[in-house]
Amino acid sequence: MPIMEFLPDNKVQDTSQYPRLKLELNERARILAIERAPHMEYIHRLEKPRIVNGVPEYHEEEKRDGTKQRVLTQDFIGTPICLGDLGIIEEKGVDPVNCPICAASVKGDMVAGPVRRFAMNVIRYALKPGQQGFALAEPYSVSCIAWAFGDAMFNKLTDFATEWGSLQQHDLLLGPCTVKQYQKFDVNVAATAEWLASEDRKRLTAETYKSSKAEDLAPLCGRKAKREYIESDLESIEMAWRVVHAHTAGGVPDLTGGDSAALAAGLDDLLADLPAAEHDATFRDLVATEPAEAAPVQVANQDLLDDLLAEPAAQSSAPSAAPSAETAPVGGDVGVQVETLSVQEADGISVPKPHGETIVEDEFEALLGDL
Ligand SMILES: [Zn+2]
Repeated sequence: MPIMEFLPDNKVQDTSQYPRLKLELNERARILAIERAPHMEYIHRLEKPRIVNGVPEYHEEEKRDGTKQRVLTQDFIGTPICLGDLGIIEEKGVDPVNCPICAASVKGDMVAGPVRRFAMNVIRYALKPGQQGFALAEPYSVSCIAWAFGDAMFNKLTDFATEWGSLQQHDLLLGPCTVKQYQKFDVNVAATAEWLASEDRKRLTAETYKSSKAEDLAPLCGRKAKREYIESDLESIEMAWRVVHAHTAGGVPDLTGGDSAALAAGLDDLLADLPAAEHDATFRDLVATEPAEAAPVQVANQDLLDDLLAEPAAQSSAPSAAPSAETAPVGGDVGVQVETLSVQEADGISVPKPHGETIVEDEFEALLGDL
C-alpha cells in the first residue's frame, strides 16, 4: 500500500474552495492586481425554470420604468467550463461540434452561448476598520485572494491599464458594495500602489503572494465538468422547459417580455457580463504597455527593487546601488495620496496621465516569480 507523507504537496488541491474576493453590503476593498494578466475560460451559465408540482413558477420583477412584470423563476445550476475549442469559439462564438451546451445554445433559448470569465490572484490590503475611506490598517497587512470577473470588469481594468500603465503600480479601490447578491460596486484606480511605499511592504506583499496564490485559476472561472454531467444537466433543463412550453401553450402564464428576454436579463444581472463589442487588445498586451509618461507619486526604484525581489541566492551579487531617481514614497497619509478616478467618469472626462518612472516588468517577474 502506498504511503502518503504529511506534506503540504500531498494535500488535495482544490482551488474552487480558494478564498475569493466578495464584498459585503457597504463594504470597500483596496486591492492590487499583482498579476499582469488574468486567467480566462469560456463558461456557460446554466439555469433552469423552477417547476413546482408540475407547474412553472413565476415572480414579479420591477422594470427600470417602475412597472412590474411577471418573470419566470429560474434556478441556478452552475457555470461549467465550455468544452469547445478555444480557436473555434473565438472565431465563431460557439463550438457546437465539441461542446454539447454550445450545440444546445444554437438550437434554442434554453441555454446561453459561452461567455468569458476571468480569474486572477489579487492582493487585498487590510483597511482601517470603521472608516469610510481606503486608508490602510496598521500594521500593514495583506492577504492573497482570487478575484473572478466577467467582460464588463475586464473592460474597465483594460481602460485603467491603457490610461495609467501597469496595474501593479496602481491600487484598485472597490466599493462600497451596493448590492451584495450581484456584487455591484464601483471600481476606481488609485494614483499609487501602497505595496510600493516601503521596502518592508514590498517584501511582505511579494512573499504573501508567492506563498498563498492559487496556482490553478481555471476552477475559479467555472466548473470543470465531465461531458456526461453536462449532458445530464442539459436533459433536466430541457425537461423543465418542456413543462414551461406546455403551460405557455395553454395560455396560463403571462410571459411579458418573453422567456428568452427574461432569461437574458437575469444573466446580465447575475454575471454582470454584458457582451463586449471588441476584445482586440488583450489584457496582457495592455497591462504590459508602459505609459508614455510615468507616475511621479510612487516611483519604485529599480535598484532597490532588484535587491528586494531577487532570490536569496542572487542577493549578494546585487548590492544596493545609490538610488538615482527615487521619489519619496508616501508612507503614512493614505488619504492624501490617493487619487481616485470614477469608472463612470472615465469614459467622458480626460484622465490625468501618469508621468514619471515605472518599474520594468522584468523586475516584477524577479520579485513575484512566474506570473
Ligand atoms: Zn460551449
